[in-house]
Amino acid sequence: MMSTELAKYSIIIPVFNETAIILNCYSRLKKTFQRIDGTCEMIFINDGSTDNSEKLIKDLNKKDSNVKLISFSRNFGHQVAITAGLEYASGDAIIIIDADMQDPPEIIPRMIEKWKEGYEVIYGKRIKRKGETVFKKVSAFLFYRLLKYITRFDIPVDTGDFRLLDKKVRDQIVKFHEKSRYIRGLISWVGFKQTFVEYERDTRQTGTTKYSLKKMVYFAMDAITSFSYRPLRLSTYLGFILSFFSFTYVLYAIYSKLFTNNTVQGWTSAIAISLFFNGVILIILGILGEYIGRIYEEAKGRPLYILREKIGFE
Ligand code: UDP
Ligand code: MG
Repeated sequence: MMSTELAKYSIIIPVFNETAIILNCYSRLKKTFQRIDGTCEMIFINDGSTDNSEKLIKDLNKKDSNVKLISFSRNFGHQVAITAGLEYASGDAIIIIDADMQDPPEIIPRMIEKWKEGYEVIYGKRIKRKGETVFKKVSAFLFYRLLKYITRFDIPVDTGDFRLLDKKVRDQIVKFHEKSRYIRGLISWVGFKQTFVEYERDTRQTGTTKYSLKKMVYFAMDAITSFSYRPLRLSTYLGFILSFFSFTYVLYAIYSKLFTNNTVQGWTSAIAISLFFNGVILIILGILGEYIGRIYEEAKGRPLYILREKIGFE
């Protein structure tokens, strides 16, 4: 970007029932950007909140025309909210940040510095996660490693969606129309010059996590299935290995029948084998189902989200 003109920044903030923190979020972002040259629009995406969030954002918009609102007709999920934000963002650099301020906005100036050095994606790398449950930490740790193992290209571990994107990257990402979205993966996938800044993830300031266990499982499934068909291949391998053993066992069974007298017993092993194989077959069918379900979603070609209104855009 040209250093002579002032840059325009867009901040994308997905919001799902965050009444308790929106004002605080706004003022911390505002304060951060007072120290930065350039203009800054804040795009709040109301992802079907059922509380007062939308009203608060509208009030902010009345006082500050840099605050903009995109409101969904219902809850479409965090990743979809970010997608909508990207579509409406018009800045030279776009910053994605959670409303709950777990990712401190004070890191943004460091990201902007890197951007001015010429990097096109700067993601925040969590070196510590404060105040989250052991379950969340352990599941996040395992998830990022599993994903790294399963997918073939490098999705950086321990990063969330907190990051800065150059306009060029945003222009590519908005062309993707796939339904199961794992934005961090897509951003890695498009390439460009990427780097990171390290930071400590804070505790949520108020409210509780909006990612229920169910949402976390869906999220993990989407991440894995949209970047790898290795689970399908693993199930094929497993099928081969098991067939090999069962074939050997059949040979043994024929041998016993023909050359020995002890073929009547064996009920236990028969039951065990049948249960085991049924289990494995169900798992494999399940994996197939995950992919077929996603093909079905794509085939329907429904829109990713539905807007109820948008405020503050020309
Ligand atoms: N969020 C959203 N839609 C959802 C769930 C969450 O827009 O269905 C927003 C939420 O308001 C927050 C961000 O996504 O700004 C991250 O959610 P949260 O902090 O609950 O996730 P966690 O940090 O616990 O993983
Ligand atoms: Mg959070």
